[in-house]
Amino acid sequence: MKTAESTASNPEMSTARTQISRIPDDAVEVDFHAEREQRPDIWQTALEYSVEISEAGRPDLFLVDASGEIPANCSLAEREDGHVGWCSCAQFEDHGVCVDLCAIRQAAVIDDVSIPSVARD
Ligand SMILES: [Zn+2]
Repeated sequence: MKTAESTASNPEMSTARTQISRIPDDAVEVDFHAEREQRPDIWQTALEYSVEISEAGRPDLFLVDASGEIPANCSLAEREDGHVGWCSCAQFEDHGVCVDLCAIRQAAVIDDVSIPSVARD
């Protein structure tokens, strides 16, 4: 007889997520919570823009069109200790976070996109 016992090992990740095995080598830790506190302007700008996010061929890859100029190539995944991301834009190069990554995070909150999870290596 089968038992329908659920192991519920990690209640914080109750929604089924796409698992990916690796992220780009250049990806860095992104602490959105801290960014919101320390650089609310970037987070706020992302909220105010009308942003178009398209999937770009892999679960962690997104094409983000925030400013109507050149769309940014982003990678964003969730690790047990936070997010890791990368973006092609200059703001990310300067700050390690950018409007595009914030926009993806914001879209994920309302389930517009889903951020995959990646195991720590
Ligand atoms: Zn960016």
